[in-house]
Amino acid sequence: VNAPVITAIDTAAIKVVGPCLLVRIDAGDESGIGECYPSAPVGAIDRIVRAMAEHLLGRDPRQVHLLHETLRRWHLFTGAQGGAVLTALSGIEMALWDLAGRLQGVPVHGLLGGRFRDRVPLYADCHAGTVDAAGHHPDPSRIPDPNTTEGRAVFADAVSVAMERGFRAVKFDVDDVFGALHHDDWNRALTRAQIERMHRQVGLLRELLDDDVALAIDMHARFDVPSAIRAAQALAEFDLMWLEEPVPPENIAALAAVRRRTTVPICAGENLYGRHAFLELFRAEAVDIVMPDLAKFGGLAEGRRVAELAELHYLPFAPHNVSGPIGTVAAAHVCATAPNATYLEYHALDLPYFEDLVDYAAGPVVKDGVVVMTEAPGLGLTLRIDVAQEHRHESSGLPFFESPVRS
Ligand SMILES: [Mg+2]
Repeated sequence: VNAPVITAIDTAAIKVVGPCLLVRIDAGDESGIGECYPSAPVGAIDRIVRAMAEHLLGRDPRQVHLLHETLRRWHLFTGAQGGAVLTALSGIEMALWDLAGRLQGVPVHGLLGGRFRDRVPLYADCHAGTVDAAGHHPDPSRIPDPNTTEGRAVFADAVSVAMERGFRAVKFDVDDVFGALHHDDWNRALTRAQIERMHRQVGLLRELLDDDVALAIDMHARFDVPSAIRAAQALAEFDLMWLEEPVPPENIAALAAVRRRTTVPICAGENLYGRHAFLELFRAEAVDIVMPDLAKFGGLAEGRRVAELAELHYLPFAPHNVSGPIGTVAAAHVCATAPNATYLEYHALDLPYFEDLVDYAAGPVVKDGVVVMTEAPGLGLTLRIDVAQEHRHESSGLPFFESPVRS
Protein backbone atom coordinates (compact mmCIF):
# COMPACT_ATOMS: atom_id res chain seq x y z
CA VAL A 1 0.00 0.00 0.00
CA ASN A 2 1.40 3.36 -0.96
CA ALA A 3 1.57 6.17 1.60
CA PRO A 4 -0.29 9.35 0.62
CA VAL A 5 1.94 12.17 -0.55
CA ILE A 6 1.54 15.93 -0.68
CA THR A 7 0.81 16.97 -4.26
CA ALA A 8 0.07 20.70 -4.02
CA ILE A 9 0.03 23.67 -1.66
CA ASP A 10 -1.98 26.82 -2.32
CA THR A 11 -2.96 29.96 -0.43
CA ALA A 12 -5.73 32.55 -0.25
CA ALA A 13 -5.71 35.94 1.43
CA ILE A 14 -9.01 36.90 3.06
CA LYS A 15 -10.20 39.42 5.63
CA VAL A 16 -11.31 38.20 9.02
CA VAL A 17 -10.34 40.17 12.10
CA GLY A 18 -7.45 41.37 9.94
CA PRO A 19 -5.89 40.27 6.63
CA CYS A 20 -5.31 36.58 6.93
CA LEU A 21 -3.65 33.84 4.87
CA LEU A 22 -5.38 30.50 4.42
CA VAL A 23 -3.19 27.53 3.48
CA ARG A 24 -4.56 24.52 1.60
CA ILE A 25 -2.49 21.34 1.29
CA ASP A 26 -3.57 18.59 -1.12
CA ALA A 27 -2.72 14.91 -1.19
CA GLY A 28 -4.37 13.74 -4.39
CA ASP A 29 -8.12 14.30 -4.01
CA GLU A 30 -8.02 15.02 -0.27
CA SER A 31 -7.08 18.39 1.14
CA GLY A 32 -6.57 20.06 4.49
CA ILE A 33 -6.91 23.71 5.43
CA GLY A 34 -5.11 25.96 7.90
CA GLU A 35 -5.18 29.61 8.89
CA CYS A 36 -2.28 31.90 9.69
CA TYR A 37 -2.74 34.53 12.40
CA PRO A 38 -4.57 37.54 10.96
CA SER A 39 -2.87 40.94 10.97
CA ALA A 40 0.54 39.38 10.47
CA PRO A 41 2.35 40.64 7.32
CA VAL A 42 0.22 38.61 4.94
CA GLY A 43 2.36 39.06 1.81
CA ALA A 44 5.53 38.02 3.62
CA ILE A 45 3.77 35.01 5.10
CA ASP A 46 2.52 33.97 1.67
CA ARG A 47 6.11 34.02 0.33
CA ILE A 48 7.37 31.99 3.28
CA VAL A 49 4.55 29.41 2.96
CA ARG A 50 5.41 29.03 -0.74
CA ALA A 51 9.10 28.64 0.02
CA MET A 52 8.33 26.04 2.68
CA ALA A 53 6.01 24.21 0.26
CA GLU A 54 8.98 22.95 -1.70
CA HIS A 55 10.07 20.91 1.34
CA LEU A 56 6.59 19.38 1.64
CA LEU A 57 5.88 18.18 -1.91
CA GLY A 58 6.14 14.40 -2.18
CA ARG A 59 6.17 13.91 1.61
CA ASP A 60 3.65 11.90 3.66
CA PRO A 61 1.27 14.50 5.21
CA ARG A 62 0.45 12.19 8.13
CA GLN A 63 3.96 12.71 9.59
CA VAL A 64 2.94 16.06 11.06
CA HIS A 65 5.53 16.30 13.86
CA LEU A 66 8.31 15.30 11.48
CA LEU A 67 7.31 17.84 8.83
CA HIS A 68 6.88 20.61 11.42
CA GLU A 69 10.28 19.85 12.93
CA THR A 70 11.87 19.61 9.46
CA LEU A 71 10.68 23.12 8.55
CA ARG A 72 11.49 24.55 11.99
CA ARG A 73 15.06 23.21 11.99
CA TRP A 74 15.54 24.23 8.35
CA HIS A 75 14.89 27.81 9.47
CA LEU A 76 16.85 27.80 12.74
CA PHE A 77 19.38 30.20 11.19
CA THR A 78 16.71 32.23 9.39
CA GLY A 79 14.04 33.16 11.89
CA ALA A 80 12.56 29.97 13.35
CA GLN A 81 12.61 31.67 16.76
CA GLY A 82 9.71 33.98 15.97
CA GLY A 83 7.71 36.24 13.72
CA ALA A 84 6.52 35.52 10.18
CA VAL A 85 8.49 32.27 9.82
CA LEU A 86 6.64 30.64 12.71
CA THR A 87 3.29 32.15 11.71
CA ALA A 88 3.69 30.65 8.22
CA LEU A 89 4.64 27.33 9.80
CA SER A 90 1.55 27.56 12.05
CA GLY A 91 -0.85 27.72 9.10
CA ILE A 92 0.96 24.88 7.32
CA GLU A 93 0.94 22.67 10.40
CA MET A 94 -2.78 23.33 10.98
CA ALA A 95 -3.54 22.27 7.38
CA LEU A 96 -1.40 19.13 7.83
CA TRP A 97 -3.42 18.08 10.91
CA ASP A 98 -6.66 18.59 9.01
CA LEU A 99 -5.34 16.62 6.03
CA ALA A 100 -3.87 13.84 8.19
CA GLY A 101 -7.20 13.49 10.00
CA ARG A 102 -9.21 13.37 6.80
CA LEU A 103 -6.90 10.77 5.25
CA GLN A 104 -7.27 8.55 8.32
CA GLY A 105 -10.90 9.31 9.17
CA VAL A 106 -9.96 10.64 12.62
CA PRO A 107 -10.69 14.04 14.19
CA VAL A 108 -7.66 16.19 15.02
CA HIS A 109 -8.37 15.87 18.76
CA GLY A 110 -8.15 12.10 18.25
CA LEU A 111 -4.79 12.38 16.49
CA LEU A 112 -3.58 14.50 19.43
CA GLY A 113 -4.41 11.73 21.89
CA GLY A 114 -8.10 12.13 22.62
CA ARG A 115 -10.24 14.61 24.46
CA PHE A 116 -10.92 15.55 28.05
CA ARG A 117 -14.06 17.50 27.15
CA ASP A 118 -16.73 17.63 24.44
CA ARG A 119 -17.41 21.35 24.72
CA VAL A 120 -14.64 23.94 24.74
CA PRO A 121 -15.66 27.15 26.56
CA LEU A 122 -14.82 30.50 24.99
CA TYR A 123 -14.45 33.93 26.46
CA ALA A 124 -15.69 36.88 24.42
CA ASP A 125 -13.23 39.65 23.73
CA CYS A 126 -15.28 42.84 24.06
CA HIS A 127 -12.41 45.22 23.20
CA ALA A 128 -13.12 48.48 24.99
CA GLY A 129 -16.85 48.05 24.53
CA THR A 130 -17.00 49.59 21.06
CA VAL A 131 -15.42 48.16 17.99
CA ASP A 132 -15.98 47.91 14.25
CA ALA A 133 -16.20 44.69 12.25
CA ALA A 134 -12.46 44.79 11.57
CA GLY A 135 -11.75 44.74 15.29
CA HIS A 136 -10.59 48.34 15.48
CA HIS A 137 -12.01 51.17 17.51
CA PRO A 138 -14.02 53.32 15.08
CA ASP A 139 -13.03 56.29 17.18
CA PRO A 140 -9.47 55.62 18.24
CA SER A 141 -9.46 58.64 20.51
CA ARG A 142 -10.82 56.96 23.59
CA ILE A 143 -12.18 54.09 25.58
CA PRO A 144 -15.71 55.06 26.73
CA ASP A 145 -15.70 57.11 29.92
CA PRO A 146 -17.39 55.11 32.71
CA ASN A 147 -18.11 58.39 34.48
CA THR A 148 -20.57 59.45 31.78
CA THR A 149 -24.05 58.14 30.97
CA GLU A 150 -23.02 57.46 27.35
CA GLY A 151 -19.89 55.60 28.46
CA ARG A 152 -21.82 53.46 30.91
CA ALA A 153 -24.35 52.63 28.20
CA VAL A 154 -21.59 51.45 25.85
CA PHE A 155 -20.19 49.08 28.49
CA ALA A 156 -23.68 47.88 29.45
CA ASP A 157 -24.37 47.13 25.80
CA ALA A 158 -21.20 45.14 25.29
CA VAL A 159 -21.78 43.15 28.47
CA SER A 160 -25.36 42.27 27.55
CA VAL A 161 -24.42 41.24 23.99
CA ALA A 162 -21.79 38.83 25.37
CA MET A 163 -24.06 37.43 28.09
CA GLU A 164 -27.07 37.07 25.77
CA ARG A 165 -24.90 35.04 23.43
CA GLY A 166 -24.08 32.70 26.29
CA PHE A 167 -20.49 33.61 27.12
CA ARG A 168 -19.58 32.95 30.74
CA ALA A 169 -16.30 34.86 30.52
CA VAL A 170 -15.36 38.16 28.88
CA LYS A 171 -12.32 40.35 28.34
CA PHE A 172 -12.12 44.14 28.15
CA ASP A 173 -9.33 46.61 27.36
CA VAL A 174 -8.40 49.34 29.83
CA ASP A 175 -5.28 50.78 28.21
CA ASP A 176 -6.67 54.07 26.96
CA VAL A 177 -3.55 55.61 25.45
CA PHE A 178 -5.38 58.05 23.18
CA GLY A 179 -8.02 59.45 25.53
CA ALA A 180 -8.33 62.68 27.45
CA LEU A 181 -6.20 61.39 30.33
CA HIS A 182 -3.33 60.55 28.02
CA HIS A 183 -0.25 62.56 28.90
CA ASP A 184 2.81 61.40 26.96
CA ASP A 185 3.32 59.52 23.70
CA TRP A 186 6.39 57.58 24.72
CA ASN A 187 6.82 57.01 28.40
CA ARG A 188 4.98 54.03 29.85
CA ALA A 189 3.94 55.68 33.10
CA LEU A 190 0.36 55.76 34.37
CA THR A 191 -0.98 58.79 36.23
CA ARG A 192 -3.26 58.58 39.26
CA ALA A 193 -6.14 59.78 37.07
CA GLN A 194 -5.56 56.95 34.57
CA ILE A 195 -5.46 54.32 37.29
CA GLU A 196 -8.59 55.83 38.82
CA ARG A 197 -10.31 55.59 35.40
CA MET A 198 -9.32 51.93 35.06
CA HIS A 199 -10.58 51.23 38.56
CA ARG A 200 -13.89 52.89 37.75
CA GLN A 201 -14.26 51.02 34.44
CA VAL A 202 -13.48 47.60 35.89
CA GLY A 203 -15.75 48.23 38.88
CA LEU A 204 -18.59 49.14 36.51
CA LEU A 205 -18.00 46.04 34.38
CA ARG A 206 -17.99 43.83 37.47
CA GLU A 207 -21.30 45.39 38.51
CA LEU A 208 -22.85 44.87 35.07
CA LEU A 209 -21.76 41.25 34.72
CA ASP A 210 -23.57 38.37 36.36
CA ASP A 211 -21.67 37.21 39.44
CA ASP A 212 -20.59 33.95 37.83
CA VAL A 213 -19.26 35.53 34.61
CA ALA A 214 -15.46 35.76 34.71
CA LEU A 215 -13.73 39.02 33.74
CA ALA A 216 -10.25 39.38 32.25
CA ILE A 217 -8.56 42.72 31.63
CA ASP A 218 -6.03 43.40 28.85
CA MET A 219 -3.29 46.05 29.06
CA HIS A 220 -1.68 45.33 25.66
CA ALA A 221 1.88 45.40 26.96
CA ARG A 222 1.81 49.17 27.40
CA PHE A 223 3.08 50.08 30.87
CA ASP A 224 6.26 50.28 32.92
CA VAL A 225 6.84 48.02 35.92
CA PRO A 226 5.89 50.47 38.72
CA SER A 227 2.76 51.62 36.86
CA ALA A 228 1.72 48.04 36.15
CA ILE A 229 2.12 47.16 39.82
CA ARG A 230 0.07 50.15 40.95
CA ALA A 231 -2.69 49.39 38.45
CA ALA A 232 -2.74 45.69 39.33
CA GLN A 233 -2.98 46.50 43.04
CA ALA A 234 -5.81 48.95 42.37
CA LEU A 235 -7.75 46.31 40.42
CA ALA A 236 -7.09 43.50 42.89
CA GLU A 237 -10.44 43.92 44.67
CA PHE A 238 -12.39 42.88 41.56
CA ASP A 239 -11.34 39.23 41.55
CA LEU A 240 -10.22 39.24 37.91
CA MET A 241 -9.80 36.03 35.95
CA TRP A 242 -6.52 37.60 34.84
CA LEU A 243 -4.63 40.75 34.04
CA GLU A 244 -3.09 40.43 30.57
CA GLU A 245 0.32 41.73 29.44
CA PRO A 246 0.70 44.60 31.92
CA VAL A 247 4.28 45.23 30.65
CA PRO A 248 5.98 44.76 27.24
CA PRO A 249 6.63 41.17 26.16
CA GLU A 250 10.39 41.17 25.56
CA ASN A 251 11.61 41.17 29.17
CA ILE A 252 10.22 38.23 31.08
CA ALA A 253 12.00 39.20 34.31
CA ALA A 254 10.05 42.48 34.32
CA LEU A 255 6.77 40.57 34.03
CA ALA A 256 7.88 38.33 36.89
CA ALA A 257 8.57 41.46 38.96
CA VAL A 258 4.98 42.61 38.42
CA ARG A 259 3.62 39.18 39.26
CA ARG A 260 5.54 39.07 42.55
CA ARG A 261 3.97 42.36 43.64
CA THR A 262 0.30 41.61 42.98
CA THR A 263 -2.35 39.07 43.87
CA VAL A 264 -4.08 39.44 40.47
CA PRO A 265 -3.37 36.40 38.24
CA ILE A 266 -1.06 37.44 35.41
CA CYS A 267 -1.62 36.13 31.88
CA ALA A 268 0.85 36.47 28.98
CA GLY A 269 2.15 34.74 25.89
CA GLU A 270 0.32 36.09 22.82
CA ASN A 271 3.55 37.81 21.77
CA LEU A 272 5.86 34.89 22.39
CA TYR A 273 6.81 32.38 19.72
CA GLY A 274 7.62 28.71 20.01
CA ARG A 275 7.77 26.31 22.94
CA HIS A 276 11.21 27.47 24.05
CA ALA A 277 9.99 31.00 24.79
CA PHE A 278 7.33 29.50 27.06
CA LEU A 279 9.94 27.38 28.80
CA GLU A 280 11.66 30.65 29.76
CA LEU A 281 8.34 32.13 30.90
CA PHE A 282 7.80 29.19 33.28
CA ARG A 283 11.42 29.23 34.48
CA ALA A 284 11.09 32.91 35.39
CA GLU A 285 7.80 32.22 37.23
CA ALA A 286 6.41 35.16 35.30
CA VAL A 287 2.81 34.02 34.74
CA ASP A 288 -0.24 32.40 36.31
CA ILE A 289 -2.00 31.66 32.99
CA VAL A 290 -0.46 31.09 29.54
CA MET A 291 -2.03 32.24 26.27
CA PRO A 292 -0.01 31.15 23.22
CA ASP A 293 -1.69 32.04 19.92
CA LEU A 294 -1.62 28.75 18.04
CA ALA A 295 -2.10 30.23 14.55
CA LYS A 296 0.77 32.62 15.20
CA PHE A 297 3.38 31.04 17.45
CA GLY A 298 4.09 27.62 15.93
CA GLY A 299 0.99 25.47 15.54
CA LEU A 300 -1.37 23.06 17.23
CA ALA A 301 1.13 20.49 18.52
CA GLU A 302 3.33 23.35 19.73
CA GLY A 303 0.27 24.57 21.67
CA ARG A 304 -0.23 21.07 23.08
CA ARG A 305 3.41 21.09 24.25
CA VAL A 306 2.94 24.43 26.02
CA ALA A 307 -0.28 23.13 27.60
CA GLU A 308 1.71 20.20 29.00
CA LEU A 309 4.45 22.48 30.29
CA ALA A 310 1.74 24.54 32.00
CA GLU A 311 0.11 21.40 33.39
CA LEU A 312 3.44 20.37 34.97
CA HIS A 313 3.33 23.70 36.83
CA TYR A 314 -0.41 23.29 37.65
CA LEU A 315 -1.18 26.38 35.59
CA PRO A 316 -4.17 26.98 33.29
CA PHE A 317 -3.90 27.08 29.51
CA ALA A 318 -6.10 29.73 27.81
CA PRO A 319 -5.02 30.29 24.19
CA HIS A 320 -5.11 33.74 22.64
CA ASN A 321 -7.17 33.62 19.44
CA VAL A 322 -8.14 36.32 16.98
CA SER A 323 -8.57 33.88 14.09
CA GLY A 324 -11.57 33.25 11.90
CA PRO A 325 -13.56 30.01 12.24
CA ILE A 326 -10.77 27.72 10.96
CA GLY A 327 -8.17 28.86 13.48
CA THR A 328 -10.80 28.97 16.22
CA VAL A 329 -11.97 25.38 15.65
CA ALA A 330 -8.35 24.22 15.34
CA ALA A 331 -7.47 25.79 18.70
CA ALA A 332 -10.59 24.21 20.21
CA HIS A 333 -9.30 20.77 19.16
CA VAL A 334 -6.15 21.45 21.19
CA CYS A 335 -8.13 22.77 24.17
CA ALA A 336 -10.29 19.63 24.10
CA THR A 337 -7.14 17.52 24.58
CA ALA A 338 -5.53 19.58 27.37
CA PRO A 339 -6.75 18.83 30.91
CA ASN A 340 -5.72 22.31 32.09
CA ALA A 341 -7.45 24.27 29.28
CA THR A 342 -9.90 26.79 30.74
CA TYR A 343 -11.05 29.26 28.09
CA LEU A 344 -10.26 29.86 24.42
CA GLU A 345 -10.57 33.42 23.15
CA TYR A 346 -13.37 34.42 20.75
CA HIS A 347 -12.59 37.69 19.00
CA ALA A 348 -15.42 37.87 16.47
CA LEU A 349 -18.44 39.30 18.32
CA ASP A 350 -18.50 41.99 15.65
CA LEU A 351 -17.50 39.91 12.62
CA PRO A 352 -20.91 39.23 11.04
CA TYR A 353 -19.70 36.66 8.48
CA PHE A 354 -17.64 34.54 10.95
CA GLU A 355 -20.18 31.68 10.91
CA ASP A 356 -20.81 31.92 7.15
CA LEU A 357 -17.20 31.17 6.20
CA VAL A 358 -17.38 27.45 6.99
CA ASP A 359 -19.71 24.48 7.32
CA TYR A 360 -18.87 22.91 10.67
CA ALA A 361 -19.86 19.37 11.60
CA ALA A 362 -21.56 20.45 14.85
CA GLY A 363 -23.61 23.19 13.14
CA PRO A 364 -22.61 26.64 14.38
CA VAL A 365 -18.92 27.03 15.21
CA VAL A 366 -19.77 29.03 18.33
CA LYS A 367 -23.04 28.59 20.19
CA ASP A 368 -23.84 29.44 23.81
CA GLY A 369 -20.22 30.42 24.33
CA VAL A 370 -18.71 27.04 23.45
CA VAL A 371 -17.28 25.09 20.51
CA VAL A 372 -18.85 21.62 20.41
CA MET A 373 -16.34 18.94 19.35
CA THR A 374 -17.40 16.21 16.92
CA GLU A 375 -16.12 12.91 15.53
CA ALA A 376 -15.85 14.35 12.00
CA PRO A 377 -12.41 13.74 10.44
CA GLY A 378 -9.73 16.41 10.57
CA LEU A 379 -10.90 19.78 11.85
CA GLY A 380 -14.48 18.82 10.98
CA LEU A 381 -15.14 21.83 8.78
CA THR A 382 -15.26 22.88 5.13
CA LEU A 383 -14.45 26.35 3.86
CA ARG A 384 -17.31 27.93 1.91
CA ILE A 385 -15.32 29.14 -1.05
CA ASP A 386 -18.00 31.52 -2.32
CA VAL A 387 -18.24 33.32 1.02
CA ALA A 388 -14.47 33.40 1.44
CA GLN A 389 -14.14 34.87 -2.04
CA GLU A 390 -16.54 37.68 -1.12
CA HIS A 391 -14.12 38.59 1.64
CA ARG A 392 -10.93 38.05 -0.28
CA HIS A 393 -8.19 40.54 0.53
CA GLU A 394 -8.20 42.30 -2.84
CA SER A 395 -5.69 45.03 -2.13
CA SER A 396 -2.96 42.60 -1.13
CA GLY A 397 -2.57 41.36 -4.73
CA LEU A 398 -2.24 37.89 -3.21
CA PRO A 399 -3.74 34.74 -4.70
CA PHE A 400 -7.08 33.21 -3.86
CA PHE A 401 -6.34 29.51 -4.38
CA GLU A 402 -5.35 30.14 -8.00
CA SER A 403 -1.60 29.56 -8.07
CA PRO A 404 -0.71 26.22 -6.46
CA VAL A 405 2.85 25.10 -5.84
CA ARG A 406 2.92 21.59 -7.36
CA SER A 407 5.38 18.79 -7.79
MG1 LIG B 1 -3.99 40.75 24.57
